[in-house]
Amino acid sequence: MPTVLDDISAEILDLKQKIGATILAHYYQEGEIQALADITGDSLKLAREATKVDTPVIVFCGVLFMAETAKMLNPAKTVLLPDTSAGCSLVDSCPPDKLARYQEMLRENGRKFQTVTYINSSAKVKALSDWIVTSGNAEDVVRNKVPADHEILFVPDQHLGRYLQEVTGRQMILWNGSCMVHEIFSVHDLVKLKRKYPDSQTIAHPECPKNILEHADYIGGTEAMIKHVGAIGTPTTFLVATEPNMMWQLESRFKQHKYIGVPGITCACNACPHMAKNTLEKIRDCMKHGKPEIIWQPEFDKAKEVLARSLLNPPVAPAVSHPHGD
Ligand code: SF4
Repeated sequence: MPTVLDDISAEILDLKQKIGATILAHYYQEGEIQALADITGDSLKLAREATKVDTPVIVFCGVLFMAETAKMLNPAKTVLLPDTSAGCSLVDSCPPDKLARYQEMLRENGRKFQTVTYINSSAKVKALSDWIVTSGNAEDVVRNKVPADHEILFVPDQHLGRYLQEVTGRQMILWNGSCMVHEIFSVHDLVKLKRKYPDSQTIAHPECPKNILEHADYIGGTEAMIKHVGAIGTPTTFLVATEPNMMWQLESRFKQHKYIGVPGITCACNACPHMAKNTLEKIRDCMKHGKPEIIWQPEFDKAKEVLARSLLNPPVAPAVSHPHGD
């Protein structure tokens, strides 16, 4: 028997045709939202896909900085975000005025540096940056784009920055930000799970702190995780240290494996409260009313240049790293 959610999904598909919309959804959205989307992906894939959309409307199921990125990279489109209060703890950890003051202080001290900024940042912070990276292209930018005679100021994710320092050997000045979801995985529970499933593989996002990454067999962003898991044919148990909705994507694509989410310190699932703000009802309503819409802001002009230079210039190497050296 059809449920209320089935009815709402049908309404959304109907509205999609009526208003000419393409639905983009991040891997951290609920499975029912990912199932409806035209395109699912990580930040890098969605940013690139946004440039190719040919319908007049993009419905972005993700958080605010992602929808702003889609608008900046495809300004002619109407970009709708079901809930504009869907923020990100990494964005909050790096206020633009604080970053500008810090950059000024470094310049006054004669430091020659470039600012490499994780895409999880506000448009104003992007506008203050030399490069924008995602977990998918960060290694390439740090290795190949920042001149060797420049220091790197990496903002805002200290854990991704520290991980990049390790894999590239380039020292960085690290901003003190972190993702509230990836920061609180329980090492204690992870070790217990590894004991319970001795043949399992632990896959972890580089936004996780070092104490989790030390236990990982594979470290990579969500897109890289999909490639890694998909390349393994033998049924395997994966212990997954990233936002739990990612498991919907893995379970749908690679049914031969078993997936167990690594629990958080304070709750069993570590779901991102910002991503969870988007619901089927809000998606339907934003399509019905044509709002909330991402409106062009003055800082988008400069941020767009940095974004396009950083993300749209192939080739970009995928973040595929084996922490234990093979
Ligand atoms: S999972 Fe972390 S980095 Fe991603 S949107 Fe949520 S708070 Fe931000």
